[in-house]
Amino acid sequence: MFHSSYIELSKSALQNNIDFIKQEIGPNVQFSSVIKGNAYGHGIEQYAILAQQCGVDHFSVFSADEAQRLLAVISKPATVLIMGYLDNEELKWAIQNDLEFFVFEQDRLTEAAKTARMLGKKATIHLEVETGMNRTGFAPHLLCSILDQLHNYKDAIYLKGVCTHFAGAESMQNHERIMEQLRLFNEQVSLVKAKGFDPEQIHTASSAATFFYPHTRLNLVRVGIMQYGFWPSPETYDFYSKQHPDKKDPLRRLINWKTHVMTLKQVKQGDYIGYGSSFKAPRDMVLAIVPVGYAWGYSRSLSNQGQVLICGQQVPVVGIVSMNVLTVDVTDVPDVQKGDEVVLLGKQKDKSISVASFAELSTQLNYELLTRLPMNIPRLIVD
Ligand SMILES: *Cc1c(COP(=O)(O)O)cnc(C)c1O
Repeated sequence: MFHSSYIELSKSALQNNIDFIKQEIGPNVQFSSVIKGNAYGHGIEQYAILAQQCGVDHFSVFSADEAQRLLAVISKPATVLIMGYLDNEELKWAIQNDLEFFVFEQDRLTEAAKTARMLGKKATIHLEVETGMNRTGFAPHLLCSILDQLHNYKDAIYLKGVCTHFAGAESMQNHERIMEQLRLFNEQVSLVKAKGFDPEQIHTASSAATFFYPHTRLNLVRVGIMQYGFWPSPETYDFYSKQHPDKKDPLRRLINWKTHVMTLKQVKQGDYIGYGSSFKAPRDMVLAIVPVGYAWGYSRSLSNQGQVLICGQQVPVVGIVSMNVLTVDVTDVPDVQKGDEVVLLGKQKDKSISVASFAELSTQLNYELLTRLPMNIPRLIVD
């Protein structure tokens, strides 16, 4: 496929991360690989294939369209859990294809039972309860009635899981709120059990909770950001490294975003570079023109701020990032040539451009920066 830049995904990095997470959670906790948001920008299709090769057998997605993309490419059986959006047509498709899904409102429960009966096939659900995030989840006062209905729907609905989601476990600032959520969750799980249900999977933890609050792992963890090699926040990494002062960062990033020098340009001292007058050459300069701009997710806020790697050296973006092109100062890179590899994100020789530094400069969160990497940049798997 022709393209002006591409994203490499490292298989050995993923294997490393998955081995690390599985070792931390132990054999009795199910690992679910969260691949919403186009697998956090890594590309659902390429990432899912890699993840299966690395031993993943459980995926969590946000919506039916993501589940559909996943099913189209995986070669081995896997459990697929839809945590968010499902319209009624999609609900039917989900039940037909043995997908599991969250139920957090009356409407979806009624519809799931109706559709399952019509199909003559049981729907497998995870009951999401409200504990304080106030996004999705049944309010506690509704739970009794929902459980009564589930008894009536026993022929149509299998209650496999009960779950909730914490409102920011990656920051100790939210500690009390998270603990209150956990208390409410345990109360509701007790009610579910008292009503005669014994769900196989009780789950609450994302990456941050898995590491900050090991007792929230219960019997399944839904891990997103960490499998891609990123800590959910600097705080979570500090926490880990204080507990393991002898170890270096156990996670490895999968992503390398690369392109090539499109052409070189000499400019004279005093010339302006690019649109407008934000950069005036302080000396005679050599510029490398790089064929990536904001149309490819290279934020315009990195104008005169960003850094890229060329010939193993870190060099600055000069001037305004255009739609399809950015310019970097390579005056001090003596051997640079047209066609040389440019790393926008990731490693080259012993240097690296981290998502964190990139994200900080463009004032985006890791999560946001990754998921904004456009879908149509090709993703290539490397070792
Ligand atoms: C995104 C998400 C996760 C994973 O979060 P990470 O911080 O990336 O590990 C887990 N559960 C739910 C419900 C989510 O939406």
